[in-house]
Amino acid sequence: MADGGNNTSSSHGGPAGEAGGRPKRIGVLALQGDFEAHEKALRRAGAEAVPVRTADELRQVEGLIIPGGESTTMLKMIEQEGLLEPLREFGSRRPIFGTCAGAILLATEVTNPPQSSLGLMDIGVERNGYGRQLDSRIAPVRLADSAGDLEAVFIRAPIIRRVGRDGRVLATYQGDPVLVVQGLHFAATFHPELTDDSRVHLMFIKKVA
Ligand code: GLN
Repeated sequence: MADGGNNTSSSHGGPAGEAGGRPKRIGVLALQGDFEAHEKALRRAGAEAVPVRTADELRQVEGLIIPGGESTTMLKMIEQEGLLEPLREFGSRRPIFGTCAGAILLATEVTNPPQSSLGLMDIGVERNGYGRQLDSRIAPVRLADSAGDLEAVFIRAPIIRRVGRDGRVLATYQGDPVLVVQGLHFAATFHPELTDDSRVHLMFIKKVA
């Protein structure tokens, strides 16, 4: 699965959202957490960003970001709004990018404490895995394929403890995976929406066919 390189001839290295002449319409789950920062980051990267709060709104987007926040609260709200099954169904055919709490919601396995999830990515995550050490910190993370470093903001971040056979680690911090792709989906334990660097959002936008 090639994630690098242009997959359309109409891209000129500008905002990836403009491939094919039409910005991609990407939803941001807007129940809780820092969804507005993701909407801004998506727009900066050339996509159309729309808040998603209902199954009907979910049907109208081509990809979805589940933001950081508090995963237990977000999960409760997802259940209350009847979005659990619609999100699972959406994820069976469309890309989802989960950041921090969003990554916890995508994982098949959650510990510290265990919690149910959408189970769309075969990864195991430990909540608040860095303890007090990474309550809130900006640190350089190492990108795969010698693509250099990226400034990453961590806020009470989970640690990705296990990556399934189909997963690919795209960035690491202190040797642990912090950005993983598996099939259609991405998980990041940091907050790419809180820095000016659009590379991570562009990666996701490219995935949204
Ligand atoms: N610690 C939070 C949780 O377990 C995630 C933190 C975040 O999204 N910044 O849900």
